[in-house]
Amino acid sequence: MADYLVIVESPAKAKTIERYLGKKYKVRASLGHLRDLPRSQMGVDVENNYEPKYITIRGKGPILQDLKKEAKKAKKIFLAADPDREGEAIAWHLAHQLGVDENSDCRVVFNEITKDAINESFKNPRPINTDLVDAQQARRILDRLVGYNISPILWKKVKKGLSAGRVQSVALKLIIDREEEIKSFEPEEYWSIGAGFSKKEGNFEASFYGTAGKKVKLTDKKQVDGILSTLDGDDFTVSQVVKKERKRNPAVPFTTSSLQQEAARKLNFRAKKTMMVAQQLYEGITIGKEGIVGLITYMRTDSTRTSETAQAEAKTHIESMYGEEFTRKTKAAGKSSAAKTQDAHEAVRPTSVLRTPEAMKAFLSKDQLKLYKLIWSRFLASQMAPAILDTVTVDLLNNDVQFRATGSQVKFQGFMKVYIESHDDKEEEKDNVLPPLAEGETVTCASIDPKQHFTQPPPRFSEARLVKTLEELGIGRPSTYAPTLDTIQKRGYVTLDAKRFVPTELGGIVNSAVNQYFSDITNAEFTAKMEQSLDHIEVGEIPWVKVIDEFYVDFEKHLKVADEEMEKIEIKDEPAGEDCEKCGSPMVYKMGRYGKFMACSNFPDCRNTKAIIKPIGVTCPLCKEGEVVERKSKKNRIFYGCDRYPECEYISWDKPISRPCPKCESTLVEKRLKKGLQIQCTECDYKEKPQE
Ligand SMILES: [Zn+2]
Ligand SMILES: [Zn+2]
Ligand SMILES: [Zn+2]
Repeated sequence: MADYLVIVESPAKAKTIERYLGKKYKVRASLGHLRDLPRSQMGVDVENNYEPKYITIRGKGPILQDLKKEAKKAKKIFLAADPDREGEAIAWHLAHQLGVDENSDCRVVFNEITKDAINESFKNPRPINTDLVDAQQARRILDRLVGYNISPILWKKVKKGLSAGRVQSVALKLIIDREEEIKSFEPEEYWSIGAGFSKKEGNFEASFYGTAGKKVKLTDKKQVDGILSTLDGDDFTVSQVVKKERKRNPAVPFTTSSLQQEAARKLNFRAKKTMMVAQQLYEGITIGKEGIVGLITYMRTDSTRTSETAQAEAKTHIESMYGEEFTRKTKAAGKSSAAKTQDAHEAVRPTSVLRTPEAMKAFLSKDQLKLYKLIWSRFLASQMAPAILDTVTVDLLNNDVQFRATGSQVKFQGFMKVYIESHDDKEEEKDNVLPPLAEGETVTCASIDPKQHFTQPPPRFSEARLVKTLEELGIGRPSTYAPTLDTIQKRGYVTLDAKRFVPTELGGIVNSAVNQYFSDITNAEFTAKMEQSLDHIEVGEIPWVKVIDEFYVDFEKHLKVADEEMEKIEIKDEPAGEDCEKCGSPMVYKMGRYGKFMACSNFPDCRNTKAIIKPIGVTCPLCKEGEVVERKSKKNRIFYGCDRYPECEYISWDKPISRPCPKCESTLVEKRLKKGLQIQCTECDYKEKPQE
């Protein structure tokens, strides 16, 4: 018989923990929150100190009943939800629902799901931290007040199904402002002059620097021609050689935000996917005989601190793998971030560096392995010595015209042996080695290459760049980046083009409506200040009702004005180019929850809708009668089916092509592989490269 009941959020986590605790403990999962504000109404009593009205979430009744039954049998209940304010709130709600005294030692927290961490935390249970709970509650209530008040106005004035929100509206505005900036950008002409030099020991390149010892900006062709005409022959004198040693430090360990950015750049993961895979690694993976173990620390964090135990283990590992000179000699890169929230937290790191990606390979899915490798190497690199680069700058003179060549070479790899951080919108630097050059030496110019350029507009936001910008502005917290990016796409406010955000017309309309009547909501500074106030609740510096009240008094006035004055906006639907087969009215494109679809323009009199289907010019391989059409799954993934569906049930993720397999005459499909497209047979082993 179990004496103790432990409640966590997820079944995977429950399974991992149960293993460490032994027979006296029964571990159950609550599957996230059991109580929340109701969906059908505001659920916040603004007349009465913003008293929230919590109800049991629909569908969670049986889980609650089960937990209550187990709670009655248990001698003691431990609430072991995740170590952040969301987890604290889950624990608090559970305490209330199960009749546990929140001031008793009922709460256990751990940053990693490993044997040591679990045992340690169960030795030190504590009461529920009501400041953390208040902070979560304040966020929830504030988001509810904003969302449930503005959205109905948008439904009335613009269109059903729209929403506005504290963080999403700022994110949308950032994307739209950037688009405006790009549209109004005026490119400026500038020039560069490259030069190739030859030397016995090797050729090298230099570029124009200036004249008479001063840097000169080249703005047009006339200026370039003028400079070139003053050159006297092909010989240049090496006027100066400057050698320097440059140190490069490793990046600090991952926070949620930097993890999302780097996974986007290096692995092409969307923020949502990164969080999903990270959660799997955190909650526990079965590692052969060792059993289930959590491979990384908690993935929602804004701290770059790491524990001394983890650092010591890394040091030993680095010594044995790469040698003593590769260990870090100075104090740790990575300390707690400026925002002093979530103090006990650590960066996202492997729970043990001894579990190398190579050793874990057999136990992880492809995506899990990729992300684990990223987290593992980032942390290991952060504990390694800086890299040392030799740089050299060489000035070359011809009749007072100065060219400059720069070279750099890695002298000591240090952390670069393990991991190098990527950057947005910037090319990776490579070694560029110059041949030996001495001051006073003469070198011959072999080619001169003047080039015209134009300044470029700022790039559109990628997911990584948007997360970074939100973080820099102090908006959003580890738990909100991924859901925010998801929401603005789901609502149809933005789309992704070549992995960059492009606002839609609808996004523009919603942004200007919200911006006009609720400028605070779209204002980055205001939102950042609000986030700070919310953080202050978390450390017990300010009561939550005060923070909400200060916001709401003003917000309520804006709501009235918006409701009275906002003009009704007619959104014209894009014609689909075909007529409704039921009533003959033109069909139009609409945005639904799962993307675009066709609907009759005679709505609501005619409710005919159709999925958008594109014929691909291939006869159905199954019934040999229908046409294969491209469709979209509910998750917006493209698949191929027969246009005679439901009579014919042909379906394929891979695009079929019209030619049969030359070997067996079966259907050939285009398979999307990492290397690119490949054509292969669905029956035999025939494969070919696609024809260009
Ligand atoms: Zn119709
Ligand atoms: Zn068919
Ligand atoms: Zn075949």
